Amino acid sequence: MTLAICAVAAAAEAQQRTPTRVAPPNMQAITPPLATYTDEVLFGDVWKRTELALRDRSLVTVAALIAGGHTQQMTGHFNRALDNGVKPAEIAAVITHLAFYAGWPRAVSAIGVAKEVFAKRGIATDKLAMGSTELLPVDQASEVPRSAAVEAQMGGTAPALARYTNDVLFGDLWRRPDLAPRDRSLVTITALIAAGQVDQLLFHLDRGMTNDLTRTEISETITHLAFYAGWPRAVSAVPVAKKVFEARNPLKGSMILEILRQGSQPATKGSSDNFIGSVSVDQRFQRSDPARVGGGTVTFQPGARTAWHTHPLGQTLIVTSGTGWVQLEGGPVEEIRTGDVVFIPPRTRHWHGATATSAMSHVAIAEALDGKSVDWMEQVTTEQYRRVPR
Ligand code: MN
Repeated sequence: MTLAICAVAAAAEAQQRTPTRVAPPNMQAITPPLATYTDEVLFGDVWKRTELALRDRSLVTVAALIAGGHTQQMTGHFNRALDNGVKPAEIAAVITHLAFYAGWPRAVSAIGVAKEVFAKRGIATDKLAMGSTELLPVDQASEVPRSAAVEAQMGGTAPALARYTNDVLFGDLWRRPDLAPRDRSLVTITALIAAGQVDQLLFHLDRGMTNDLTRTEISETITHLAFYAGWPRAVSAVPVAKKVFEARNPLKGSMILEILRQGSQPATKGSSDNFIGSVSVDQRFQRSDPARVGGGTVTFQPGARTAWHTHPLGQTLIVTSGTGWVQLEGGPVEEIRTGDVVFIPPRTRHWHGATATSAMSHVAIAEALDGKSVDWMEQVTTEQYRRVPR
C-alpha cells in the first residue's frame, strides 16, 4: 500500500518535470533515479543528439539488444526502429548478420520477437524477401589482403574456419544487398563493443570508415553504447577508435588545400609579458595533431625583442626584412639580415628581436611537443640587449 502511494507520488512528481515519459511504471516505482536518467538523459538528451541519425541510433540499439540476447527490450526497440526509418527487411538482415557475430542462438531468439512486431504492424513476411538478391561487387584492393591475412592467421590451425570466414562471411554475407555495407559495419562494430571484443574492433572500425562511417558517427555510436552495453564496454572501445582515427587522419587531412589569406585575421600585438617594445604577430598558425608545425610572422620595431625563452623542439627563423639580433644564452649577440635562416636548438635559452636602430621581421616556425612550442621566461634587460661588433 505504502509502496503504491509512493509510486504514484513519484510518478506524479516526475510527470511534472518531464513532459514525455519513456520510463515504464515499474521503473518509476522501484528505481525513480533510473527513471529520471531514462527520461531526461537517455531519451531526453542522448537520443536527441544529432551527431548520429535517429535511424542509426535505432540500428545500433537493436544490434546491441540482439548481440546481448536482451529479448525483453526488443519489442519496444524493434517498433522504435521501424518508426525511425529502419526497414523490416533491414531488421531481418541485422538478425542474420548477427548470427555470425553474436552466435546463432542470439539471432534465433530475436526472430520470434521480430515476427510478432511485424505481425502486429501488419507487415507481410513475404515482402521481406523482395528486392535484389544479386551480391554486391568485391573490392579487390581490400579483399585480397584481407583474405590472405585470414589464411595466414588461421589457415594452419583452423582451415575450415578460414574457409567459412572468406567464402561465407566476407564472400557472401557482407555482400548481400539487404543491408548496406555501411550499416553492416555499424552493426558489427556495435556487436563487438557490446560483447567487449576489442580484438577485432580495430579492423572493423577501419573497415567501417572505408564503408563511409564518419569519425563523428563512430564516436557517437560508442557514446550511445555506454547506455546499452555499459560504461566499461564503451570506455574500452575509445582507445581503439583513437588509434584508427589517428592512423587515418594524415591521409584524409592532407587531401584538403587550406590557404590562410593575407589580412584574413588581424595582426596581434606581442604581449608585454613575453616581449619588450612594439611587436606585432601576423599570420599566426598551428597545424593540428599528428602534425605539429606552427608559427607566424613577427615584426619588431627598433629596440623591440622577445623575452628569454626556449622551444622544446627548436625553432627556425627566416628573416624577411630589416636587420635584427639573436642570442643563445652564453653566446655572442649575432646580427641577422633579410634572407637569413636561423636555427635555434631545442631546449636552449635565447632571444631574438630588432636591432636598437632598425626594425626586423621574421617568419618563426616551431614544432609543438605535447601541444606546446614555447616556454617563456624573464625579460631581456637593457644590459643584455646590446651587440659588441667584432
Ligand atoms: Mn625563439
